Amino acid sequence: MARMRIERVTGWSIHLPYAEGSYRMAGDRVTTGMDAVVVRVVADDGTMGIGESGTVGVTFDAHHAAGQVAGVTMLASAVLGADPRSPQAVHRLMNAALTGHPYAKSPIDIAVWDLAARAADTPMWKLLGGDGAEATPLYRPVQGATPADAAAKAHERLNQGYRRLQVKVGDDPIVDAQRVLAVREAVGDETVIFADANCGFSLSAARRFVRELGVDGAGVFLEQPCATLQDCAHLRDSWAGPMVIDECITSLAALLQAYEYGIADGVTIKLTRVGGITPAATIRDVAVQLGIGVTVEDASGCNLADTTFAHLNASTPARLRTHSVDFDSWVTITHVDGPSARDGSFLRPQTDAPGLGLTLREEVLGDPFVDVSV
Ligand SMILES: [Mg+2]
Repeated sequence: MARMRIERVTGWSIHLPYAEGSYRMAGDRVTTGMDAVVVRVVADDGTMGIGESGTVGVTFDAHHAAGQVAGVTMLASAVLGADPRSPQAVHRLMNAALTGHPYAKSPIDIAVWDLAARAADTPMWKLLGGDGAEATPLYRPVQGATPADAAAKAHERLNQGYRRLQVKVGDDPIVDAQRVLAVREAVGDETVIFADANCGFSLSAARRFVRELGVDGAGVFLEQPCATLQDCAHLRDSWAGPMVIDECITSLAALLQAYEYGIADGVTIKLTRVGGITPAATIRDVAVQLGIGVTVEDASGCNLADTTFAHLNASTPARLRTHSVDFDSWVTITHVDGPSARDGSFLRPQTDAPGLGLTLREEVLGDPFVDVSV
């Protein structure tokens, strides 16, 4: 069999401003945009793949945009010459070259998967084990200082076509509960609501928050209430409703620990946090085996990132596919050409083209920070 090798790797960094101006998480963490790295990998026969991965600020995950640029610069040389048709083998090469720093591995890993799918002449969801180009429901965060603000924002989200809302909480447990209850009253019982604390509650504050929600918990999913799996597990004595773990899902071991604690009714797998599609697909497949609901997404990006989640979610069995995001609607820039992954209130692979089916707009990306070749 003819060998194929990675001949060139190029990386760009880009800041993606929010269309709505800002994004707020518990603890007064406010950002005005997201940073992402875009990577293109080209094989010696001219086949190429592209990937995007990034995060929101420096206070969400252990991730710094400048560290991602430094890591991708180093890893770009490490993967030159490797056969891109085995993304797992390329990932092992990256792990051998650099310990940790999954956010630096993620955009390269995604680009290599895109290239592998193009080389196989198949859409990526097929390569990842999907049955079809199936749709994943979209959610959108709801922010608002007061209960009335949050209820108004929730209405706006419904008018934008979203049917699943993520209300940001994690500060004052009483006001936060009032905001969740105001949103529930505004949108009715059919709309799915996640209350996402982004690690913001202490255990005692989380206990107070769920008590304020009332006996039925307002029918919400509680997302990452406290910063550690242990505190989330301690909260089980006060919360019998569904709990979803996001920030703590850093690895397969973390998933298994959350499962052991009985708090993984659902998990959110972020590509940047775990190191790209290779580890995300493993964690996803184990979660599916354990009967855990799965969201695959990231913490930054535009339509390139959205399309990547669309393919990963389309290869998750429907009964355990939770929801995902459409960052292209959040930001003012897109740096790819091709169909939008958003389809109304769903995300879906929109083309049977090989790989992700998208091409870069290099004129939007500007000068690369790394461009190495064999
Ligand atoms: Mg979350």
